[in-house]
This record gives sequence, C-alpha cells and structure tokens, in this order.
Amino acid sequence: MQVYWCSAFLLPSSIAKECDRILRKFLWGGQGRGKVKWTEVCKPMAEGGLGIKDLKRWNRALFLKQIWDIVINQSLWARWCHVYLIKQSNFWSLPTIGLHSWSWRQILLLRPVAKEHLIYKCGRVDKFSLWFDPWMHGESVHTLYGHRVIHDSLLGRLALVKEVIREGRWDWPANSTDLVDIQLSVQDIPISSTSDSIFWIALGCSFSTKLAWQSIRTRSAEVGWHRLVWHPAMIPKHVFCLWLAMRRAHRTRDKLLAWGVINSASCVFNCGEVESLDHLFFLCPFSQNIWGAVLSMCNILRPISHWSDEVQRMLDRARGHKFPTLVRKLAFAASVYHIWLERNRRCFNNEFMPAKEVINRIKHDVALKLWLSRKLRRCEWHHSLCENWDIPLGE
Ligand SMILES: [Zn+2]
Repeated sequence: MQVYWCSAFLLPSSIAKECDRILRKFLWGGQGRGKVKWTEVCKPMAEGGLGIKDLKRWNRALFLKQIWDIVINQSLWARWCHVYLIKQSNFWSLPTIGLHSWSWRQILLLRPVAKEHLIYKCGRVDKFSLWFDPWMHGESVHTLYGHRVIHDSLLGRLALVKEVIREGRWDWPANSTDLVDIQLSVQDIPISSTSDSIFWIALGCSFSTKLAWQSIRTRSAEVGWHRLVWHPAMIPKHVFCLWLAMRRAHRTRDKLLAWGVINSASCVFNCGEVESLDHLFFLCPFSQNIWGAVLSMCNILRPISHWSDEVQRMLDRARGHKFPTLVRKLAFAASVYHIWLERNRRCFNNEFMPAKEVINRIKHDVALKLWLSRKLRRCEWHHSLCENWDIPLGE
C-alpha cells in the first residue's frame, strides 16, 4: 500500500511526517521520546539502524520512476505526458511555474535529482535534443551555456545532436567563442552507429527502485556488530533489546540520575554499584553469574570481561549459520533480554526472580528456537550442546 502511494504521488511533507509519527509511536509506544534518533533508526541494519525507510526519501526514490518513464518514453502514461504536457518542448527545459497540476510540478522539481543519476549515451544521436537533453557530460548545453548559444548557432531550439555531426565527427558551427568551446569539450564523447541509450547510474543499468534508493539515501559507515544482532533465526524481541544495548540506548539508572528523573542510580541487583550499561552487561555479580552459566552451556569456559570485549569475542565467532554459531548468537541476545527484563521487573513491579530462574527462561527461549529451526544434527558437538540446552535430538 505504502509503495503504491509513494510511487504514484509525491506525498506532502505533512503526510510523510504523520506516517513517520505512526511508525515511531508503534516502535517506542505511547507518546514517549524514542531511545534512538529517528534518523539512526532509519539506517539500514548493517549501518546500525533497524532498516526502516525514511518515508520522504523512499517516496522520492519511488517517484523517480515517473521521470525515468518520461525520458525513455515507454509507458502509455509517459506518451500521454509527451503529447499533452511536454508537446513540442523538451522535458528538461519545461518551466516549473505555470498552470500545472501539483503532481506534475513535483515531477518537474525532481528533475535535478534524476539528472544526477541519468546517463545519456550518444550513439547515432538522432534522438537527443541538442540543447536540452543532458548528454554532454551529464548536463545539457543549455544549462551550461545558456540561451545565447542556441541563437548564435542558427540551428533552432528543436535541433537534434546529429545536426552537429558531419561524417562521424563533431562539427559545431564556430559562430561564437562558446560554440568553439563546446566543439573542444565534446571531443571526448564518442559517436557510434548504435542507437542512443539512456541508463540509470551506470552504463547498461535500467532504472530500479533499489538502485534509486541506494543512490539518494545518505550512507553511513557499516557497524561490525550487525552480524551478531541480525540473522535469520533471531528472536525479534530479544534482538531489539540487544540492538538497544549495542547502541547503548537503554535508559539505565546512571542516565536517569543524570536527567534528574531518579535520586539514586544504585543497581537493582543490590550489589551496591551504580547501574550503567557496562555494569548490567555483565560486570554486576548477578548478571555475571547468569552470563557465565549461559557461556558454559555454549561450551565456553572463560572469565567474563567488559561489555565491549564480550561483544568483540562474540563477534569474532559470529560469521556463518552453523549450529554452534547460531546457539551463541541466540544465547547472547537472550541473556541481554532476560537480564534487562529482570532489571525492569525489579525496578517497576518490585518483583524478584532468582538468577537460576532467569537462566531457565534463557534456556527455554533458546532451546525452543533451536528445536523449531530444525538444524539439529546427530553428531557429537550437537549432542553436547543439545544436552546442555535440554533439546531433544530425536532418533
Ligand atoms: Zn549490580
């Protein structure tokens, strides 16, 4: 539904904002402030976001298809535009002011974005407008040199590129210094006997929404930890909690104290320390006990380190989808989730669950997921892990 409307119309800003507001409300719940900036949430997962598309930009990417259809003039709608809206003029030179519909004006306003990604490849040059199509190093002659060259050339506004070619060579009239300059600057544009073609972003590429989206979105550096968080067998509520931890976005008590929301930041597990993300995962004796037990169920016996080291250690062995890797990823996310859940239970409900019970819940969630994923094999390594996690290996 969203894709249909976004590809058919350029949505007014107020509509895009309202759609984003609904998505934000769904993600964060109620009217509360989000824990992560919306621009960060809208980044792809590999770049540290949730992969939600920024609606305004997504709308522009989909809407660029309309411009593509017009320049290659293939759809019935595009032909209608040429006959009734563009007429004898050129799409690239149409003024944006005038008695246009709102939709058509939005298409015209989007031309500079489209022009950046279109490649006009000269062939026989019997299709491209000499003055207005952006065939000259991505720009039109008119944009680069203005109206004067059209007048000086004596070739008329409707001239095609082929009119400045004689015997396979560029042959611009030398009526002004600008025209001489153009003759020099087009020498590196090859002329061939193939037909003129228009491409999107790279030679040989046609328009695709994916390419358009990739080309107009803002890119950020990739985050290494995305491989640890996102994988096909993930448990959504667990990985959302882990994603917040990776982004250090959980509202831990040290933050709440700094904001003046609470009077004391002491850890709810009664260890006497200040509750911070690094303390909860897994410096606090309570969570250290849980994480240690979970690691031993993964057949890993080692001392527990600082959060960033633990993440790095898990990440070092997070590639691939082999069974032990899958167990480690599920166990890590489940531990973060259940420790955070227990912390919240103690904070808000005044209910206390012993560490053993928290471990049982982690075990239950991971075992159920592993059992459902049907990746169990009858081998020694699987057998040991399955026994640790109480997963029936079957016959
Ligand atoms: Zn503690």
